[in-house]
Amino acid sequence: MLYESTRGQAPPVKAAETILQGLAPDGGLYVPEFFPRLRFSSIEELSRHSYPEQAVRLISLFLTDFSPAEVSSAVLAAYNPLKFDTEEIVPLKVLAPDVGILELWHGPTHAFKDLALTLLPHLMTRATQKLGLEKEIVILVATSGDTGKAALESFRDVPKTRIIVFFPSEGVSEIQKRQMITQEGENTFVVAVEGNFDDAQSGVKQLFGDPELRRKMESAGMTFSSANSINWGRLLPQVVYYFSAYARLLRDKLIRHGEEINFVVPTGNFGNILAGFLAREMGLPVRRLILAANANNVLTDFINTGIYDRRRPFHRTISPSMDILISSNLERLLYLVTDRNAEKVRQWMTSLARTGVYQIDQATHERIKQVFWSSWASDDETLAAIKDAYTRYGYLLDPHTGVAWHVFNRYREETGDSTKTVILSTASPFKFARDVIRALAPEKLAGKEELSLLYLLAELTGWPIPRGLQGLESKPIRHTRKATREKMRGVVEEILGLTP
Ligand SMILES: *Cc1c(COP(=O)(O)O)cnc(C)c1O
Repeated sequence: MLYESTRGQAPPVKAAETILQGLAPDGGLYVPEFFPRLRFSSIEELSRHSYPEQAVRLISLFLTDFSPAEVSSAVLAAYNPLKFDTEEIVPLKVLAPDVGILELWHGPTHAFKDLALTLLPHLMTRATQKLGLEKEIVILVATSGDTGKAALESFRDVPKTRIIVFFPSEGVSEIQKRQMITQEGENTFVVAVEGNFDDAQSGVKQLFGDPELRRKMESAGMTFSSANSINWGRLLPQVVYYFSAYARLLRDKLIRHGEEINFVVPTGNFGNILAGFLAREMGLPVRRLILAANANNVLTDFINTGIYDRRRPFHRTISPSMDILISSNLERLLYLVTDRNAEKVRQWMTSLARTGVYQIDQATHERIKQVFWSSWASDDETLAAIKDAYTRYGYLLDPHTGVAWHVFNRYREETGDSTKTVILSTASPFKFARDVIRALAPEKLAGKEELSLLYLLAELTGWPIPRGLQGLESKPIRHTRKATREKMRGVVEEILGLTP
């Protein structure tokens, strides 16, 4: 299977190259040239297998230049009990006969990005061997919080790799920041960038596109790669849990043969929910994908109007991993729903870059609206949602999942659709302890230090602190680098020893 660029001006490449390149040379994103369709019997068959086995089956369909042994060794290196705190990897908690929560946060850093990032380095190192590259891989990541730590943890001490993570100095939680600046590993580097996530992300994009920097690196035997959610190697592992959730409902007889279900997805960069769309393209019976946004509701407006307009104030919210105004992965959806019309995609993306806005045609908009529904939650609504889920089910939501809960309730009210629904839970509530306590028992917060709140939340609810968050307060700080957006290149040169 080959991969083609959404902008149509780069040659198709194999999976190994897609995974190492991240972005296509024409600025587009790689998409497989077709989506294998599974018969329902194959989906049913998945319900008899463990999560790693499901992953091997589904991922192999796309990585046809990898041997079965390469795929399964990579998968087993990622989804195992040393990295995940539950054997199920992705447990499904059934709160009511028609509502389940898929907990995507049992990995090393307790956010859903672990599902893709634990696997990515193993796919990358196999891809380098396959292509006979001797180069050291330098990973650059811009993070709105969770990606950074998950990427650091997964690349840590992987031979022939180095990882540099840029996080916005304003806009990650204290716990997220602490997780990153205490990162261990000889090949890990963390830099605080002045500004918000979009500043950090566009700074990283600029570094990737800097020919002089590339030349310097080439001559030093290094090459850039990206672990951001535009990388196909990030997206593909996320397709697996949609199938897995469905297979589980089937196994437990909570749905009938072939029954369609809905998914609610708290969305930022459009990666997670796009994986749901891809699963649907592969034949998974999905009726609706419900896109939940916070006050940075550019995607909600887009789904509802067909106009993507990023010219709006940026809001810092209590769901910081969704504080994004440029959702990169949307480009892949546009490519697919226009039947792979690269010219249209190019026009829209050029318009977005030049003017900050584009409008899709009506036919494309209709196709999107057939599958997607969207609304958003303010911070107050999110806090109320956390309280609501806890009061009704004794179940704790982090703020990102709180956004999803609110939007799910609104969806049911507005549409009357009672289709069985799986809500994707994207982070452990302990990662955002302050806001979760603020939702449940705000009076307990007075005078409390950020890191002590983990213990307070455990005490209030009886829920255990996940193992990756224990003892954070006593770990030494190992990373203190800071940069403005303009200085990012200088910092990279210094880290890589490229300065003359
Ligand atoms: C990254 C992230 C999201 C958003 O996912 P996208 O794939 O960027 O849409 C939601 N919740 C949490 C906790 C995240 O870390």
